[in-house]
Amino acid sequence: MKNKNITVSIEEALKIILNSVTPLNCENISIMEASNRVLYEDIVSEIMVPPADDSAMDGYAIIADDTRGASKNNPVKLQITGEIQAGGSAVGKKVPKGTAIRIMTGAAIPEGADSVIQFEDTEEKAGYVEIFRETAKYENCRFAGENIKKGDTVLRKGDRLSSADVGILASLNYSTVKAYKQPTVSIISTGNELADLGEEIQVGQIRNVNAYTLYSEVKKYNALPDYLGIAKDTLKDTKEMFLKALKSDVVISTGGVSMGRYDFVKEIYSDLNIEIQFEWVNVKPGRPWAFGKKGNKLIFGLPGNPVSTLTSFIQFVRPALLRLMGAKRIRKPIVNAFLKEDINKQSGKVHLLRGFFTIKNNEFHVSTTGNQNSSVLRSMSDANCLIVIPENTTAVKAGTKVAIQLIDHDEVE
Ligand code: AMP
Ligand code: MG
Repeated sequence: MKNKNITVSIEEALKIILNSVTPLNCENISIMEASNRVLYEDIVSEIMVPPADDSAMDGYAIIADDTRGASKNNPVKLQITGEIQAGGSAVGKKVPKGTAIRIMTGAAIPEGADSVIQFEDTEEKAGYVEIFRETAKYENCRFAGENIKKGDTVLRKGDRLSSADVGILASLNYSTVKAYKQPTVSIISTGNELADLGEEIQVGQIRNVNAYTLYSEVKKYNALPDYLGIAKDTLKDTKEMFLKALKSDVVISTGGVSMGRYDFVKEIYSDLNIEIQFEWVNVKPGRPWAFGKKGNKLIFGLPGNPVSTLTSFIQFVRPALLRLMGAKRIRKPIVNAFLKEDINKQSGKVHLLRGFFTIKNNEFHVSTTGNQNSSVLRSMSDANCLIVIPENTTAVKAGTKVAIQLIDHDEVE
């Protein structure tokens, strides 16, 4: 049992967690299911996109030199010798000096032509076209391979696929692609005080919230959640629930990791041969923890207060899930923002305050979203960032710059 009873910093905790991750294997998936999945292979193009020089406009394929001196009052006349539609072949079609071929957007540029003039700057008469202005060489021409060249590595192993990436795969004729498998994630709530959705609330009970915030987060990061239910605060119940959960790649439980008499989570870790890696993180909210490992399985015993659960997920479980899925980028952006209010805190822990940032004249400004008690989920729901106040800082004045973590933004590095 390493690091047991030692309080680790946020950075150390993250390091321990990431060192415990063995990325999952791969599977072939349809590109229609590929949004936000992580690529398991480099994608190297075997073709040019577009395959041939083509037109970016509806108009006439011409020779730029033929338009010298052309104006509305003194148009240049070119003989029309044919037409190429998008998808039509340009093979055998030529544009000698003094001629033009009518051409549609996306159609291949015929031999000899080096520019396209759009219809708007021309007028077609019987058999010829009047050109009202000069064109530049290669104007309105798109070049073969301008988008992707043969041999280009367009996407890399570890990339999380955006919609544009999926479009790139389509342009290279991939109907399926190799992606990292999605981790299965069992979610457990613990606590005698919890009533689940639809159950009548007895005196002293509260609604089970964490299972649902976690389910939502796990889905958001494209892992596969399975909610197992509420474990009562008994050794037996907690153990049974964890046994079931250990069929998954990842277990996330909430509550029962603090110093209470009925906090059984850590106790059952040793029963189940889960090796605890750390138990306390130097952060508020989210100090009590039970991060464990069993083989390649990761077991996250998160604190029970709803905000602690969610901020802990964002700081630690989210990057682990992303790494299990092979993702390179796991960090939320951190930027500086001008604080709109004074903040005071005790020294000793890093505080992650729920905040709302706005952007004015390209600068970030941030205020807290109200009550920062770790049970107050409302101020988390109102937040779009976490304000990071360092361990030993006790006071920050309004107008000072503070670091804010953009929790709703995609991972940047
Ligand atoms: P614990 O560490 O188990 O004492 O939990 C800390 C606090 O979080 C207690 O006030 C619990 O009632 C609360 N809590 C624990 N689990 C949940 C949950 N699933 N939903 C909402 N609140 C919870
Ligand atoms: Mg509890």
